[in-house]
Amino acid sequence: MRFDYDDRFLAWFQDRVRQVFLYVTDRCGLRCEQCLYKTTLANREMDHGTAMDLLADFRAMGAEKLTFIGGEPTLYGARHGGAPLLELVDHAAALGYRYIRLDTNGQQGRHLYHSSSFQRLDNLAFSLDGPDGATNDQVRGRKTFDRCLRSITTAVELAYYTTLTCCVHRAVVDKLDDMIELARDLGVRELNFHPLFKMGIARDGFSGETDIEPRQWLTAYERLMAARPFVAPLLIRAPRRFVATERYRESPGEYDYCPTLMGERVLIHPDGTLRICALCIGTPLGIGRYSGRVVTYTGDDGELGTSRLRRRPCMSQSRDFGDLTPLCISYKPHQNEYVWTTDQVDQRLFGTSQPVELSR
Ligand code: SF4
Ligand code: SF4
Repeated sequence: MRFDYDDRFLAWFQDRVRQVFLYVTDRCGLRCEQCLYKTTLANREMDHGTAMDLLADFRAMGAEKLTFIGGEPTLYGARHGGAPLLELVDHAAALGYRYIRLDTNGQQGRHLYHSSSFQRLDNLAFSLDGPDGATNDQVRGRKTFDRCLRSITTAVELAYYTTLTCCVHRAVVDKLDDMIELARDLGVRELNFHPLFKMGIARDGFSGETDIEPRQWLTAYERLMAARPFVAPLLIRAPRRFVATERYRESPGEYDYCPTLMGERVLIHPDGTLRICALCIGTPLGIGRYSGRVVTYTGDDGELGTSRLRRRPCMSQSRDFGDLTPLCISYKPHQNEYVWTTDQVDQRLFGTSQPVELSR
C-alpha cells in the first residue's frame, strides 16, 4: 500500500471494492442546469502522484473497473496537452484494470482520441441530453449538441466502444424514442438513461427545474425495457428507480441492492473526499479523506453513520414518494455492465441470469 489506511476504512473495501470512479478534475467548461457537481466545480485537479498511487492501492484491494470522470476529465493536464491523463490510462492498464471508461461532455479533447494510450479505453461515454439541439442545449448550453455530435462521430469512426448517457429531464422524457433513433443512426453501442428526480437530497436544491415525476419514469421505463429486443445491436441501460411499496415488502431481497453497503465502489475526488454513493455529492458526507499519505475514516458522522445504515433499500433518498419505494440509482436489472455481469448480480437478486418479467 502506498497510503496509510485507517483499519475501518480498509475493512470496508478490502476484497469488496470492484470499481473506482476517479474524479481527476473539478474543471468543466459547461454549467449544465441539472449538474450534480455544480457546488464542487472549481479550478482544481487531482495531484498526479496521488492519483497514480490511489489507483494502485484500490487495484490491490480488488477493483477491476475504472471510470475517469470530472468535471470534464479530458481537461485533466490540459496545460501539458493531456499527457498526464494519457499516463493515468496507461498506468491503469498496466496495473491490470480490466475495464476502463471515460465520461466526457464531448466539447473538447478530440485530439486525444488519436492517441494509442487513449485508445486503451474500453468505453468512451458521451453525455447528450436530447435528440436535437433545441432539447439538449436548453440544459447543457448553446451549441453543445453540435460539438458533442462531432466528437461522437469521430469516436465511432475511430472504432471506440462509444456510448451515450442521457439525463432524462422534463423536455426529453417524451422523446426517448427519438434518442434511440439518434443513437442508432450514430452507430453508438449503448444508450444509458439517467432519470432526474427530486429525492430529498442536497442536489434537489441546485438541479434546477429539470426533474420528472416517478410515474412518468415508470411508464417510460416499461417502454424502454419492451423496446430492448427490437433495437439490437444497440443496448439500452436504464435504472428501474421505483417499486410499489407493497411489492417491496413482499420481496425485499429482489430490491435491496446498495453499493454502499457492499463496499462495491469508491468515488475519489480531487478535494480529498472518498465516498461511495453519488447521491452524497454536494454534501460533506463521505467514507473517508486522503491527505498527505494518510487515509482517515469518517466514522459515524459520514456516509456510514449508524442512522443512515439502518435505512432500506436506499439510505440517501428521503423524499416521501407515497406508495412507491425509491431504489438504488444503479439498480438496473439485466444490464450489460462489467461489474454487474461479472459479479452475476442478476443471479444473486433473481436466481437467474436470464431476463425475467419484473413484478410491479
Ligand atoms: S458537463 Fe458534466 S460536469 Fe460539466 S457542467 Fe455538465 S453535467 Fe456538470
Ligand atoms: S443510491 Fe441509495 S442504494 Fe444506491 S448506493 Fe446510494 S445509498 Fe445505496
